[in-house]
Amino acid sequence: MAGVSYPYEYDAPVSQNLFDRASAVTPGGVNSPVRAFRAVGGTPRFMVSGTGPYLTDADGREYVDLVCSWGPMILGHAHPEVVAAVQEAVARGTSFGTPGEGEVALAEEIVARIEPVEQVRLVSSGTEATMSAIRLARGFTGRAKVIKFAGCYHGHVDALLAAAGSGVATFGLPDTPGVTGAQAGDTIVLPYNDLDAVHAAFHANPGEIACVITEASPGNMGVVPPADGFNAGLKAACAKNGALYISDEVMTGFRTSKAGWFGVDGVVPDLMTFGKVMGGGFPAAAFGGRADVMGHLAPAGPVYQAGTLSGNPVATAAGLAQLRLLDDAAYAKVDAVSREVQALVTGALSKEGVAHRVQTASNMFSVFFTADEVRNYDDAKNQESFRFNGFFHSMLSQGVYLPPSAFESWFLSTAHDERAIERIAAALPAAARAAAEATA
Ligand code: PLP
Repeated sequence: MAGVSYPYEYDAPVSQNLFDRASAVTPGGVNSPVRAFRAVGGTPRFMVSGTGPYLTDADGREYVDLVCSWGPMILGHAHPEVVAAVQEAVARGTSFGTPGEGEVALAEEIVARIEPVEQVRLVSSGTEATMSAIRLARGFTGRAKVIKFAGCYHGHVDALLAAAGSGVATFGLPDTPGVTGAQAGDTIVLPYNDLDAVHAAFHANPGEIACVITEASPGNMGVVPPADGFNAGLKAACAKNGALYISDEVMTGFRTSKAGWFGVDGVVPDLMTFGKVMGGGFPAAAFGGRADVMGHLAPAGPVYQAGTLSGNPVATAAGLAQLRLLDDAAYAKVDAVSREVQALVTGALSKEGVAHRVQTASNMFSVFFTADEVRNYDDAKNQESFRFNGFFHSMLSQGVYLPPSAFESWFLSTAHDERAIERIAAALPAAARAAAEATA
């Protein structure tokens, strides 16, 4: 942990060695920035295996996993039926570049579970899904502008990395070098949970807005659920103004209920995007919705979209096996275990007098170090996130793996059992003390 010291410093020599090797050949030593421990400091753990609710790192330490690969592993790691489906598929060949039955079956499963999805196109990542949905919305409406909300993440799509600025109806400025003003210039970034801002943006841009894209229930600024009527208000504003309402369910899809967040709030989007859970731990994602809109996609229509590995037979086998195991009982289990962990966290932090809020979206939840309700990105940034670092490292040193950032959802699975919960419960008192003692 060069240059960083924590009350819970401990060694991870094999991970450190791997991180040194990785840093020589990969920018920042990781293949996705959030995996590096930049926000919390220290050495990221290199994992070698996962079973049920546990991960084992390269130093041989076992952790209760509360990240679940950032959402996908809702049945826990290496679920025997998912593993068997993958082994069976892989033995038949890994990619054909032709249509196959597995992708039909996965598409049918999605259409059957999620009423607003009449047709669906499979892709390989959530980023591809949102990028393609936006292209389709622009192609369908013949309009250029896109409304998104500050603090909502939709993958690293150029136009959607414009997240800066909390002003009403401000045009987005690119948040990262490499995204040009032109790419971000058609993106209007608004504060989350603010319908007045949405109405003002439509008013200021008559006939120009192709779509509103929103996380169905945001989990990328911590968990900030939509206020009552917010999603319905978005849908109504879109319908009134001839724009499409895109609900990004990459995180919530097949997680917050059998039909994702749509199963919770029932607001019918024009287009939806999916990823994470539907791939069973493999790169599979999708976008879908109204048949008349989806019919504009090539080869049925003129809007181009394609992928060499789209609908990959191994990925679709994994996704299908996982979805078929996700019945009402499975969601009841994840919901119950999530409530148990939430109560333990609140109990431990309250005991130490740490101001906090646990915010939930079904079984997704996150812990904000503030006493106030968090309704948007500005609120989320106002928390005492420095308290999270000590909390995180204390949990890690005691064998509990949390997302390495105060702005992420925690994820549970059907595999989190009493033994896993007991380990979390045992680790929390010291972690809560670390949060209490943390200084900015
Ligand atoms: N949309 C949402 C809501 C997400 O949470 C994510 C990833 O975390 C994405 C899109 C991008 O998905 P991927 O990382 O598979 O490209």
